[in-house]
Amino acid sequence: MEIFSKKIIDNVKADISGVSKIVITAHLNPDGDALGSSLALYNYLKTSKDCHIILPNNIPDTFKWMPGCNEILIWENEESPRILAEAEMIFILDFNTASRVDKMQKALEESKAIKIMIDHHPFPQEGLCKYVFSCPEAAATCELMWLFCKECGISLSIDSVKCLYTGLVTDTGCFQFNCTSKQTFQVAGEIAAYDFDRSEIIHHIYDCYTEGRMRLMGYVLSKKMVVFPEYHAAYIALTKAEADEFGYQVGDTEGFVNLPLSIADVKFTAFFMERDGIIRCSFRSKGDFKVNTIAEKYFNGGGHDNAAGGKSYKPLDVIVKRFVSILPEVTKELRIKN
Ligand code: 5GP
Ligand code: MN
Repeated sequence: MEIFSKKIIDNVKADISGVSKIVITAHLNPDGDALGSSLALYNYLKTSKDCHIILPNNIPDTFKWMPGCNEILIWENEESPRILAEAEMIFILDFNTASRVDKMQKALEESKAIKIMIDHHPFPQEGLCKYVFSCPEAAATCELMWLFCKECGISLSIDSVKCLYTGLVTDTGCFQFNCTSKQTFQVAGEIAAYDFDRSEIIHHIYDCYTEGRMRLMGYVLSKKMVVFPEYHAAYIALTKAEADEFGYQVGDTEGFVNLPLSIADVKFTAFFMERDGIIRCSFRSKGDFKVNTIAEKYFNGGGHDNAAGGKSYKPLDVIVKRFVSILPEVTKELRIKN
């Protein structure tokens, strides 16, 4: 693949050989792709380097089975700032702007380490990294990590490919979203050649929900989903009190933003939730309707064409009102097509 040209890969390999302290980091609220790409690389590097994964915050229970997971440090850990400051090389995986690591941002930007970004979000931050492997056409960072390792001549363990498979599955919605390309299937095919139980991974991700999550999903669908057929749009807004009533745990609302997309003619959905003193906003779309530009313009965020997010310190009802008020304008192209 072009972004991993031989010349650049040779330089990266030489740089890797020259360092011993390596840190791998990924974005706030890590998902299957952030964790999968980080752990796949970590499980390889830790055999020969002083390597750590440091993440801005904790990982959801859904992913705690992943090999190497219990060795991940979070930023609040007292050792983390020292380890990051001493790192000679930092891998920036599944994000492309320093603000995505939240409280780690300053330390990351100030670090003099050789920084290597491998990511699939559009618009990478300029000047952050020595090496930028940015490919928005890739379905997952795990897809790129596989290709990167292949180009570097790294042979991954079964533990590592299980992690990569997790990221492929979660970022493509089990290979159903449009981002799933011929290359994604090729990478998945090469990974599937390894001897591991793929259905067990699906089971860990999709069949290990809490009872609270299932009941919260029922509540959200019957009481909280607001549909605007005229705008081909829908939203769900959830207060902290409502989530707490169902014994909310991190990860319990994962994927809720996608639920209204199963309605015929709904092409644009939003999910708003009070969390950690802010409103987390998630957006999804079907087809060529772009949500990252909406997230960026109105909700202090960004992301992919069909999956984006943002945040706000304003009250939930203010954010919902903003969303409803922009619908006539932002859905114009959807209405013309239908
Ligand atoms: P989710 O809805 O799953 O939290 O996020 C979907 C996608 O939106 C993520 O993969 C990420 O690309 C992007 N995203 C989510 N939150 C933010 C944010 O606060 N800022 C930016 N720039 N992107 C975000
Ligand atoms: Mn990703």
